[in-house]
Amino acid sequence: MSHPTVPATMLAARFHAGERGVTLEEVPVPVPGRGDVLIEVAYCGICMSDVHMVDGTLPPFVSEVTPGHESAGTIAAVGDDVPDAWSVGREVVLTAGKRCGACLSCINGQPFDRCLTPLIMGSFYDGAWAQYVLVSFAQLVALPGGVPLDQAAVLTDAVATPYAALKDTAQLQVAESIGIWGLGGLGTHAVQLARVLGAAPIIAIDVSEFARNRALALGADAALDPADPDFAVRILELTDGLGLDVAAEFVGSSSVRNQAVTSLAAHGRVVMVGLAPDPLVLTDSMTPVMRSQSLRGHLGANPTHLRELVSLVQHRRLDVSASVTRVYPLGQIHEALGAIERREGHPVRLVLDPRGR
Ligand SMILES: [Zn+2]
Ligand SMILES: [Zn+2]
Repeated sequence: MSHPTVPATMLAARFHAGERGVTLEEVPVPVPGRGDVLIEVAYCGICMSDVHMVDGTLPPFVSEVTPGHESAGTIAAVGDDVPDAWSVGREVVLTAGKRCGACLSCINGQPFDRCLTPLIMGSFYDGAWAQYVLVSFAQLVALPGGVPLDQAAVLTDAVATPYAALKDTAQLQVAESIGIWGLGGLGTHAVQLARVLGAAPIIAIDVSEFARNRALALGADAALDPADPDFAVRILELTDGLGLDVAAEFVGSSSVRNQAVTSLAAHGRVVMVGLAPDPLVLTDSMTPVMRSQSLRGHLGANPTHLRELVSLVQHRRLDVSASVTRVYPLGQIHEALGAIERREGHPVRLVLDPRGR
């Protein structure tokens, strides 16, 4: 059942495999089927994974798609068999992907992070670089008052992914030491989240002095240049000679992963979040065995993580108000992508607002 104010067509930024960039197109507004909810998009972030799909660095998953997986907005229409709580006008934030629903994990009722073929919004199905986006109601998290829609959009991936990586995959404990490599959109939030989760000390690592200083301002105890010839010594000095309990890597390169592995304490964990196609070759594979260290990969977050983050923002335990570096109308997507390519203003997140087109 459609809402009378929903138009028949909308503006969307479309990606076509084999072409660089996106094109702005007028396309039909999708009609919600059973279990679906149509969202009027208020804000959608631009993630480096979107940038790498549209510039051809990462292989596309489908031949044609509307990118965008970091969104928040208002329910515009609901399909059949959607619980009444998801009513028209409600403000919601959307998880960045969904279970495939068909693999051996999904048919046993496992959550998103157990799905064998998880579907990322904007990569496998149409995302939110558009005025409207169609999602399953299972992808929705309700927004309470006091959580602005632009900050909610940033939570979906740039905050939720490092949160799930640190809390669940790395099993970061209170008073454990952590090193965070790559202080862009995700890594900058990882510094703030490590603080919320009680890590100590928090060591922020990036080649950019600007990014290191920003991390120090957001709660890192120390900041290091990974190219510092004394890097290994500095890590030991900062951790009383023990090494890191957790090494979180948001870069996605073999050299960074090796530096992370060689910085670990006994029983230390490397969590790899950066996506990279290059092979992983460990320069030393004896020490990880001798010291019971582990190397773990991490993708995305569950609706539960997003719900927890909404609560942390609502109750002022986490402040992401500085994370929206700039808002662009959807019609200026090319300007926004250009600004990211030039690293203009060291953005944490550039966000699209399709409401004014
Ligand atoms: Zn993202
Ligand atoms: Zn599945």
